[in-house]
Amino acid sequence: MKIVNSIKDLKAYLAEVKRDNKKIGFVPTMGALHNGHLSLVQHCVKDNDVCVVSVFVNPTQFNDKHDLETYPRTLEADCALLESAGCDYVFAPSVEEMYPEPDTRIFDLGTVAEVMEGAKRPGHFNGVAQVVSKLFYIVEPDNAYFGEKDFQQIAVIRAMVRQLNIPVTINACPIVREDDGLALSSRNTRLTPEQRQKAPLIARTLKESTTFVPEKSVQEVIDYVVNTINNDPVMEVEYYEIVDGNTLESIKNWTDTDYPVGCITVYCGEVRLIDNIKY
Ligand code: AMP
Repeated sequence: MKIVNSIKDLKAYLAEVKRDNKKIGFVPTMGALHNGHLSLVQHCVKDNDVCVVSVFVNPTQFNDKHDLETYPRTLEADCALLESAGCDYVFAPSVEEMYPEPDTRIFDLGTVAEVMEGAKRPGHFNGVAQVVSKLFYIVEPDNAYFGEKDFQQIAVIRAMVRQLNIPVTINACPIVREDDGLALSSRNTRLTPEQRQKAPLIARTLKESTTFVPEKSVQEVIDYVVNTINNDPVMEVEYYEIVDGNTLESIKNWTDTDYPVGCITVYCGEVRLIDNIKY
């Protein structure tokens, strides 16, 4: 496995790979890797001849400076995990390498980028589109892998790829969870032991709420989820929306879509956790 810091070097390595007509798979990450990331890498290794993983904490997608500063950075441990997962190239550029000058591009990706996370974290998806489009231009992958934990992000990336005609196939991989149901996240390490013990309430409540469908209305299910989680003094729901999984538009009735997905964000103390469930 090669660890590459410069765009020029990575492009040189990948030019050879392309000359041999080998299929390139790509997994973009911000590091602090866990089994959720590794499941994407496993899919990538299985489907492609060469697997490239980027580890880059992208400043332009953080709308909260404190979150950016405290984001865990564990490159050495990440590389050890990636090597054992069969990754071929780790691309770990500096901020200067990725942004020698400020990226001033403003994307308009429509509703999928405006609702939920788009509304609560202004600029977040614009930053995601900036960095992922740059990474796609650098790596030129045949396949790219994203986790359904960031359900909305996948819709945003798909919209961007369509808009820019980037020739890459976007592959969505299922959420990897702890045994108690908590979705794996690099931010989980910031939970206090008490918060960590409470956090599985989110996944538990979402799962339980699926058993009420279609007897309870969409609004009743939303109320149940929000009230159950807010009942715990450590937790506060920021939003819970049940949307069409393709358009991300809120639904009013279960018959509005054949692909209903509930998307939630919860503050567990100061830590912002996201999760989602298919109904
Ligand atoms: P991040 O490093 O948080 O930007 O995540 C990099 C990729 O890993 C994204 O596509 C995430 O959706 C994915 N990912 C993060 N956590 C999980 C998880 N628990 N299960 C599946 N994919 C995940």
